[in-house]
Amino acid sequence: MFSGSLSNSRFVSAAALVAVFMISQASPLHAEEEKKGFFSKIFGGKGEEKPPVPAEGKSEPESPEKPQPASSSPKPTTAKSTAKSTPAKSTAKTTTPAKKPETKPAAPKVADKPKEAPNPAAPTPAPKPAEKPAVMTTNVRGEVKPSASNPWHIIDIGGRDYVTLESIRNFYNPLFGFTGFREQGNHIWLMSNKLVIKAQVGSQELLMNNMKFILSFPVVTHGGKALISRLDLVKLVDPILNPSHIQGAEYFDTVVVDAGHGGHDVGARGVYGYEKDFALKMAQHLRTALMARGFKVVLTRSTDAFISLGGRVSIANQIPNSIFISLHLNSGGSTASGIETWALTPQNAAATISRGGGYNMNGTTGNKQDSANIALASAIQARVLSTVKVVDRGIKRAQWSVLTGIKKPGILFEGGFVTNAKECLLIASDNYQRTVAAAIADAVVNYRKALEPAMARR
Ligand SMILES: [Zn+2]
Repeated sequence: MFSGSLSNSRFVSAAALVAVFMISQASPLHAEEEKKGFFSKIFGGKGEEKPPVPAEGKSEPESPEKPQPASSSPKPTTAKSTAKSTPAKSTAKTTTPAKKPETKPAAPKVADKPKEAPNPAAPTPAPKPAEKPAVMTTNVRGEVKPSASNPWHIIDIGGRDYVTLESIRNFYNPLFGFTGFREQGNHIWLMSNKLVIKAQVGSQELLMNNMKFILSFPVVTHGGKALISRLDLVKLVDPILNPSHIQGAEYFDTVVVDAGHGGHDVGARGVYGYEKDFALKMAQHLRTALMARGFKVVLTRSTDAFISLGGRVSIANQIPNSIFISLHLNSGGSTASGIETWALTPQNAAATISRGGGYNMNGTTGNKQDSANIALASAIQARVLSTVKVVDRGIKRAQWSVLTGIKKPGILFEGGFVTNAKECLLIASDNYQRTVAAAIADAVVNYRKALEPAMARR
């Protein structure tokens, strides 16, 4: 949970809530239908589809085609940029080659004008003519233009590298076969029949197949082109679009399931109970669901016991071949609702919020699992959203204590707001807990499947 005001003031009759709950449970695919099934393609949100990456028919690109080796430190320096940040090993005086994927990306030709109308999945917003982006891009310190052998158009703005969305389109075109690229006002769409990416200048929200991701830095424009930070490309977009190339992915057969809080630490005080109790029940359901799918499971707590955050980390780090899933329920205003999944803020990036233990403005807490973390978070968020009808609050970054020390892929899942009476009733139901637990377990299967090629290479 977050800290936040607790309000029980809004009373809604239980009968009415049960009715609402039954309706939403009766059509578990409703949310997915609303989203036109697109996000089901992210990590097999439906649980049946193949991971999106190895595009059928097209040869799978070799790892060198990655935009940048997913090293633990992104070294976001441009030619002669004065990187202000101080990454641990940033001797990165590097000139541009470091960030160029020195391979023949398929279609590095300059993007043409958008040819087609936006896909129905990308409804056209009312165009706001000639909006001035809220982001200053005057402080340009360097630029690498795309060439025949290098699709990346990289601009150093204020000491941070950005890449044009156009060059992202070009780089991933062999995988996704983009049929449209459209910039209108502050809005940008990249479209294919498998993937729709939507971005907005000045915003940190990025929609990929309608799943909401929170960028580390807002989208900016320069010279009429929209750009995202190179760090977001490397640490967010690439792991999602190309999970089979995540470096450092390790094989796992065990899941450490961490029920948040416990004992005197009750967590969020919900309308129908404490967060710690809901989290424990959900963890038990998740254990059952994971075991049914062939995983070994370790619970950090199986009773109402207090365990320090450090204790949880230490348990997780002792379990070989494992990933880590921490389960929480959220707190906020009485109307706040929805699920969100948190991954550790990558190195040199901004956290989505400035809370969470161990918050560090310099953002030096990212770990070697940055790419796997975001992939796991996306797999879980996608699968849960395609299973239950809940609000998508996005995939976010924070330096939660429990994530900073974990040496394996790990995420923190917030399964709804216990401070919202309607949602708390849902959370308190066995049905919801089982359904969400099964969705998370399916997501773990999807995640492992998507990363298997990367694991196999090790
Ligand atoms: Zn919590």
